[in-house]
Amino acid sequence: MRVQVLIIGAGPAGLLLGQCLLREGIDALILESRSREYVLGRIRAGVLESATVALLERLGVAGRLHAEGLAHEGFDIAFAGERLRIDLAALTGRSVTVYGQTEITKDLMDARDAAGGKTSYEVSDVAIEGFDTDHPRVTYTHKGNSQSIDCDFICGCDGFHGVSRASVPPAAIRLYERVYPFGWMGVLSDTPPVHDELIYVSHERGFALCSQRSRTRSRYYVQCPLSEQVDEWPDERFWAELRRRLPGEAAKTLATGPSIEKSIAPLRSFVAEPLRFGRLFLAGDAAHIVPPTGAKGLNLAASDVYYLAEALVGFYKEKSIVKMDQYSARALSRVWKAERFSWWMTKLLHRFPEEGEFGRRMQLAELEYIAGSRAAQTALAENYVGLPY
Ligand SMILES: Cc1cc2nc3c(=O)[nH]c(=O)nc-3n(C[C@H](O)[C@H](O)[C@H](O)COP(=O)(O)OP(=O)(O)OC[C@H]3O[C@@H](n4cnc5c(N)ncnc54)[C@H](O)[C@@H]3O)c2cc1C
Repeated sequence: MRVQVLIIGAGPAGLLLGQCLLREGIDALILESRSREYVLGRIRAGVLESATVALLERLGVAGRLHAEGLAHEGFDIAFAGERLRIDLAALTGRSVTVYGQTEITKDLMDARDAAGGKTSYEVSDVAIEGFDTDHPRVTYTHKGNSQSIDCDFICGCDGFHGVSRASVPPAAIRLYERVYPFGWMGVLSDTPPVHDELIYVSHERGFALCSQRSRTRSRYYVQCPLSEQVDEWPDERFWAELRRRLPGEAAKTLATGPSIEKSIAPLRSFVAEPLRFGRLFLAGDAAHIVPPTGAKGLNLAASDVYYLAEALVGFYKEKSIVKMDQYSARALSRVWKAERFSWWMTKLLHRFPEEGEFGRRMQLAELEYIAGSRAAQTALAENYVGLPY
């Protein structure tokens, strides 16, 4: 078997790239190790930059997003008894959209099915060969049968634990990493959000975030030690801890209910360089991870795909390799800025026990500075709504 482009991974990066290539008539196959239902059930990101929304519009998959997504023109930061609103619309002229990753995944899968795109779920033993030659090949097992596919290019969209980055010889790749000494305990519940917009909380007991997926579905997080397990967090303990960290009015009006999903996510900053190895390209979490504080993970997958699709379309439609040669540098330039912003938001809002009281006073001084400076708020807001592609 042969295809032009072999995409590994049907997360947001792989499905978005698949949709870009389908619309250009480029023959691509997506291989996914999990079942379709499993991929659809993963609860993850929920805040979309305006450029991500624009990309989904261009790909013809934004109908439900516009009908059901919530435009947010600002968010709150609560600290030391203050509640500061960052007015994204006034500061940048742009907004973000709250629409769950699961919904985007569903929209992309439906569009792919409707257009006859090829996806093989529940594949195993995926191995990539010859990406440093003109004849790359991917082998895998599907429904008990060994398969081998020749292709022009392999796109590794298989997340942090995927096979693509792991197949690159260590001498050819440079890794940058920071692991944070805490995690986020997250709860999804069918309760109305405590506020119309998101609330980021910097509290003596640790960070908290009031997020949402719709007007009836809330997503809340509290910073917790990495040593803790989900079963140490019965719903009652989670709601009590969240309430302690929320500002007065929100604590009073918080609606609680049974959790429908509960998980602890570790926080990590990670970048692999470069993003191209001959005929293998990395995109999304396969290449980089951000702590979720800046809501950038899914949005970075989208910007990588934007640059990678341009590179592949340039190759097939214009017989040009210019954008292919530029892919790694263009994508990484944006990735590093989002890494910086996510690291900065994480440092600003979480309790770092080893930083002591001095570290806490530095955080409070910076928060007060932001509260009093339109310039500082603008810098925060333009990063939050997303830097231009
Ligand atoms: C628990 C959690 C919570 C998160 N919360 C947020 C958030 O609140 N906000 C935010 O912006 N971001 C969040 N993120 C990050 C965001 O979800 C990711 O950045 C986004 O999913 C990246 O998309 P991706 O397609 O690159 O990778 P993934 O979504 O990881 O998709 C990779 C796909 O590849 C498949 N795969 C892996 N290995 C193989 C293989 N060998 N062969 C075939 N297929 C393979 C996987 O099954 C998966 O479907 C969160 C991530 C996690 C893990």
